[in-house]
Amino acid sequence: MRSIVTGGAGFLGSHLCDLLLEKGHEVICIDNLLTGNQRNLEHISSDQFTYIKHDVTKPIYFGDKIHYIFHLASPASPIDYLELPIQTLKVGALGTYNMLGLAKQQNARFLLASTSEVYGDPLVNPQSETYWGNVNPIGPRGVYDEAKRYAEAITMAYHRYHGVDTRIVRIFNTYGPRMRANDGRVVPNFISQALNGRDITVYGDGSQTRSFCYVSDLIDGIYRLIMSDCTDPVNIGNPAEMSVLDFAKVIIEITGSKSKIIHEDLPVDDPKVRRPDISKAKELLGWEPKVELKEGLRQTIEYFMQ
Ligand code: NAD
Ligand code: UDP
Repeated sequence: MRSIVTGGAGFLGSHLCDLLLEKGHEVICIDNLLTGNQRNLEHISSDQFTYIKHDVTKPIYFGDKIHYIFHLASPASPIDYLELPIQTLKVGALGTYNMLGLAKQQNARFLLASTSEVYGDPLVNPQSETYWGNVNPIGPRGVYDEAKRYAEAITMAYHRYHGVDTRIVRIFNTYGPRMRANDGRVVPNFISQALNGRDITVYGDGSQTRSFCYVSDLIDGIYRLIMSDCTDPVNIGNPAEMSVLDFAKVIIEITGSKSKIIHEDLPVDDPKVRRPDISKAKELLGWEPKVELKEGLRQTIEYFMQ
């Protein structure tokens, strides 16, 4: 089996490359290093692995047969996509279009890494796949949310019109080793602040909620989804919901840090709640998360300490 992973030098993509190699796939990682880093791939010594530096908003062709395409390339942290709005829109639109074209030409199975952000600032909680979302298309986060909503739409169009064998995973907040310490997301921010004795920056009053999934659980869910016959979107995430303020307290407790919690402005359009309904993943993929928050955080903290 030959698989392509776009965004394979990023946080999730590099873990997916590891799992695919473990499962015996030949893996081609395509990444332009916009937000990723080749250090995430340094540990791979397999001759079944190839890295190609390429921007997927430009077409790419392969002579050899490709069986699976995992399209993960996209800035993913709010700080990244606010700094890279055009690149974010382009990779969601042109990048997805190019990878679907490749899947069609290769008769390969295609998986889109979508996001819980397609639900925007949700008016229902938890969010199931049948919810259509509440997105501000012209707000600062719109570049990411709408790029992913477009990516889902073009994926379903290639599926319905061209018969491409597609999968869509809606990923909820995932954390773990190889997140960039400065990527601005709440997990690396709080951990590096706590480890360095700096103030922990809770945005707003911290009552907004998130549900954190450990990376190994997420990657297992992605693998089960591509191997399933489920062509409709599936939520993968951990339903254990907590407020951001409580999350800051957990980080202080686990690191034993003396950091104080301070409050900063809440970013525009920051979702007030987020929690996946994972009934579909349970039923169709036999998947549910296994790693408890504190265990996952210990592994992540160890990575950040190194
Ligand atoms: P990341 O920033 O670590 O990885 C993204 C990778 O894509 C990077 O290596 C980057 O260099 C690459 N990339 C970006 N634009 C590219 C382009 N035009 N051509 C080639 N490569 C390009 O982010 P991540 O957290 O690993 O996210 C991976 C995917 O999962 C993204 O599509 C993201 O939207 C999705 N996702 C992640 C989360 C999460 O919690 N981590 C949640 C929801 C969705
Ligand atoms: N957040 C915070 N302090 C930080 C970074 C983030 O309070 O230093 C909050 C952010 O406002 C949001 C939540 O933590 O409510 C999760 O933010 P993140 O950027 O990780 O991802 P999001 O779920 O918003 O895409």
